[in-house]
Amino acid sequence: MNKRVFSGARPTARQHIGNLLGAIHNYVDLQKEFDECIYCIVDVHALTTLQDTGKLQANIQDLTLDWLAAGLDPEKSIIFVQSHVPEVMELHTLLGMVTPLSWLLRVPTFKEKAKLHPENVNYGLVGYPVLMTADIVLYKAEVVPVGEDQLPHLELAREIARRFNNIFGETFPEPVARLTSFPSIPGLDGKGKMSKEVETSVIEIAHTEEETKSRIMNAVTDPERKYRKDPGHPEVCSIYALHKFFTESQVAELEGQCRTAGIGCVDCKKLLVESLNADLRPLRLKRAELAGKPDYVRQVLANGADRARVIARQTIKEVKQKMGLA
Ligand code: SF4
Repeated sequence: MNKRVFSGARPTARQHIGNLLGAIHNYVDLQKEFDECIYCIVDVHALTTLQDTGKLQANIQDLTLDWLAAGLDPEKSIIFVQSHVPEVMELHTLLGMVTPLSWLLRVPTFKEKAKLHPENVNYGLVGYPVLMTADIVLYKAEVVPVGEDQLPHLELAREIARRFNNIFGETFPEPVARLTSFPSIPGLDGKGKMSKEVETSVIEIAHTEEETKSRIMNAVTDPERKYRKDPGHPEVCSIYALHKFFTESQVAELEGQCRTAGIGCVDCKKLLVESLNADLRPLRLKRAELAGKPDYVRQVLANGADRARVIARQTIKEVKQKMGLA
């Protein structure tokens, strides 16, 4: 399909299997469906909440390795770092001139983040949706893969693009959401979703098989199953949820065994360690191989930025002309 896709990820931590089963597999599939996919490591966005910027470069390297190992193809897709194409900052400023402040203040994630970090309600947090809009429309992307929770952000991006077009003439396509139902992967800590905010809740793509084993063997299971003889409730257990993805062929049997105490949690976990490690082994080997070629990874990002910049410069030129700046 001859449409341009854009998506970005913040380099705030290494990617975990929740990211892999959701966003990253989806990115790989979109490469088959669309002629041009742009995948951006949005490092400037990371600055709004990242406390320790000393880790930023390592995080960028890790995210690139995770993506490439999982199957993002730099020959086909444009893979680059947001700040390597500084035109996005210029467009952010210019779009800021047509974005009413009231639109930004009503964004639910702004309110949540302001509540979470009252000591640091910076402009970057308020302007986040404008920078996000600049990310998308700078490349005149028409399709943006999003989960349901991201829809309000994309709607705002569409409104900003529409307002610019109304004032200065047709310039940007209004990006359309490609709604993707990401599987919700429960965290190993037994408290909600697998999330990079809670380190022990995740299994990272880059973990070794031993680290994976340790995380799984220490995971919280059904809190009501105190003894081996107690029947379990697989629907509340993160181990069972992961078996659905990694031990698919035995999942019905495991469910029955759990409910009748036919299997203990230790054996159930050991089985998951084997199936999950076996599934991720090729990807992890590829990742390790790429990690040994830092020049190659740097080159991928440099080529991606070069290709992105060609599109970005054309857009900025057009925008400046329309706004009377050139
Ligand atoms: Fe979870 Fe498996 Fe234990 Fe059942 S047997 S509670 S699915 S770890």
